[in-house]
Amino acid sequence: MENCIFCKIAAKQIPSTPIYEDDDLIAFHDINPAAPIHFLIVPKQHIATLADCGEQHAALLGKMTLLAPRLAKEQGCGFQLDEQGHASGGFKTLFNTGPDGGQEVYHLHMHVIGGPKPWRGQR
Ligand code: 5GP
Ligand code: ZN
Repeated sequence: MENCIFCKIAAKQIPSTPIYEDDDLIAFHDINPAAPIHFLIVPKQHIATLADCGEQHAALLGKMTLLAPRLAKEQGCGFQLDEQGHASGGFKTLFNTGPDGGQEVYHLHMHVIGGPKPWRGQR
């Protein structure tokens, strides 16, 4: 897709700070982080929004979702439950869709935002 910033990042035509890559997905730090940890999980295939996804994208969306806790742990915002049942850490996952959803880049992406209640008052 021409002039799509995330297609260009996936194709290494413009730089990013990647934290993960496989045949289908790339993940990189958000250029304007909303919290101490903020990265994006992005399919290499151009899909404009979550609303453009169909059954054929179910496996891809599942893969994106399952990658979030794994990368969150690696990036320092994993979720833990200790033997006493005390929960700590964690992160927010977010798809913005369309203007009212706050979407700015029209190439599907999942935000993963971590830190102590990083979403308070934002996004
Ligand atoms: P949206 O509002 O579309 O859900 O989120 C787009 C996100 O992409 C924003 O949080 C924005 O900071 C991030 N972003 C936009 N352009 C770039 C870029 O060139 N590089 C990186 N790493 N992030 C970007
Ligand atoms: Zn794209």
